Amino acid sequence: MAKKQFKAETKRLMELVINSIYTHKEIFLREIISNASDAIDKMNHRAITDPTLGISRDDFRIDVSVDKEARTITVSDNGTGMTSKEMEKNLGMIAYSDSFEFKKKLEEGADSDVIGQFGVGFYSAFMVADKVTVVSRAHGGDEASVWESEGIDGYTIRKGEKDSFGTDVIMHIKEDSDGESYSEFLDPVRLRELIVTYSNYIRWPIRMDVEAGAWEDTGEKGEDGEPKREYITRTENKVINSMVPIWQKDKSEVSDDECKEFYKQQFYDFEDPVSVIRVDAEGRISYKAMLFIPKRAPHDFYTRDFQPGLQLYSSGVLIMERCADVLPYYFRFVRGVVDSPDFSLNISREVLQNDRVLKAVGSNLSKKIKAELERLKENEPDVYSEFYNSFGQQLKYGMVDNFGSDKDMLKDLLMFESSKGGMVSFADYVGNMQESQEKIYYVVSSSASKARNLPQMESVLDKGYEVLLMTDEVDPFLVSILREYEGKPFCNISTEDLGLESEEERKEAEEKDEEHKGTLEFAKEILGDDVAEVRISRRLKNHAVLLTTTGSITFEMEKYFKEMPGGQGGNMKASRVLELNADHSVFRALKDAIESDKDKAADIVRIMYGQASIMAGIPLDDPVAYSDLVLSIF
Ligand code: ADP
Repeated sequence: MAKKQFKAETKRLMELVINSIYTHKEIFLREIISNASDAIDKMNHRAITDPTLGISRDDFRIDVSVDKEARTITVSDNGTGMTSKEMEKNLGMIAYSDSFEFKKKLEEGADSDVIGQFGVGFYSAFMVADKVTVVSRAHGGDEASVWESEGIDGYTIRKGEKDSFGTDVIMHIKEDSDGESYSEFLDPVRLRELIVTYSNYIRWPIRMDVEAGAWEDTGEKGEDGEPKREYITRTENKVINSMVPIWQKDKSEVSDDECKEFYKQQFYDFEDPVSVIRVDAEGRISYKAMLFIPKRAPHDFYTRDFQPGLQLYSSGVLIMERCADVLPYYFRFVRGVVDSPDFSLNISREVLQNDRVLKAVGSNLSKKIKAELERLKENEPDVYSEFYNSFGQQLKYGMVDNFGSDKDMLKDLLMFESSKGGMVSFADYVGNMQESQEKIYYVVSSSASKARNLPQMESVLDKGYEVLLMTDEVDPFLVSILREYEGKPFCNISTEDLGLESEEERKEAEEKDEEHKGTLEFAKEILGDDVAEVRISRRLKNHAVLLTTTGSITFEMEKYFKEMPGGQGGNMKASRVLELNADHSVFRALKDAIESDKDKAADIVRIMYGQASIMAGIPLDDPVAYSDLVLSIF
């Protein structure tokens, strides 16, 4: 029979899995059992929604058996089974969504612990087997098919025999070699151990023949006259796993470490989550939930590829693998399981969005997540900051989504870099405010270090006030949604009135404006429509010039709109304002030049504008002409 080739991607993944110096080969059993369990989940769902099938929940089982002579391990299930077409599709290529990440980790030389946390799926069988045979009959079909492969070379599919629907995966275990022992997996005691370690919470009975020994009376009497006892071993077919899903167990029965282990296996993370949230709600709606807040964002988290959602169960029956309608979008990084007898088994995706029960559960869980994040922030700031590095952006986007309808839920979870060092929340900032201070000062820049060096920082820092350094592109939008925090208005130190002057200082400044009116008008005329206004600065101390904006569009927003695909945002331009420091020598030079040499004065204005643009991080319209102008001085 002609061998079919695996898809190229699959081949590469198989190669990596098989050839990695992988010390946790034992996870193959967990992967094969988990596939069997998934197939039974699907079958069970079908059976419940269609009682005419006459299949009872109690009929389902997974059997693990060993044949030492033939060196085979067989995992059988009576789940959905597969047609030959389905075998072709499912076993001929990788279905695993995170395979990209996995490959990356392997190529980076990840250690075996890291690899062990990835679901490498069906192919992991080839870590211990030199041949894998899958015999399967789809439910409803009367024909069985056999898929067989000896590894990367390819596979064959042929017709076969099978009495009932379901799947047998037969793994032919490799011979021991070069210090690699595979024979250990043919030991039922070892297999049993693996099932308990890795598959204990599988909801279907995993059965195995196990040898049980006991001292038994022989019915005879020994020489000493006492009843004679003998140690008898018998083979019994037994359920090996505990079967109760971890989230249904009482809190006191499950340790935090067990929950974390469950998380890593179930959600393919190789790091512990920062939090485990367990909810056992009783009342109008009863449900159990086990939620996890991951430490790091998956590689595709901020892309469209990321699939959020919680696993939905109805009394232990899986109804949906990823239901994205339980939690609000901004908490989409949360992983976990929700199980309620009040969830309908027949629920469809369309109905879900408006499902009353689901809405109530979701809103309750959101509150718990928020409370947990606040607890972390308060009690374990280092852990929170790790979490925040990964998902802070998501929370910020959540604030501006839907015109800020969720701002009150999220505003206390946000953190910003402070001019005083470290990260602070709005509450921290307001708590640190000086008595004389009335505004929450912030500056927007592309990085914290750039922000610190901006000319407009000086006058605020001189007062001893703290400044929030906003470096994410979403930040300005966020401030425009919030407007104030605990009654304190936000103040962009680049564009708004700082409110730092006394009445006297204000008067003085106004007099200055009047005094320099002619100079300002001259500069405005030279710059034309490039600027909306030229004015005497009230925020500059040592620096000569500052480019800022007036109106609602800031430079950061302008940049954001410009980069929008399609270029529709190109017209969104910030209105520029050039601020001049009247106490600076260049300002005096300008004044003199206006009197003596108007051409020179015009050049000074252009250089002032150019330098101010550079400091503000705004690209020059014509960098060549500008350079020529500056260098013509020499
Ligand atoms: P994953 O389980 O992550 O989807 P696998 O490589 O483990 O990836 O399995 C690929 C696919 O093969 C599964 O999604 C499923 O459709 C099918 N499959 C594997 N084992 C079984 C089984 N025992 N019964 C039915 N289908 C199975």
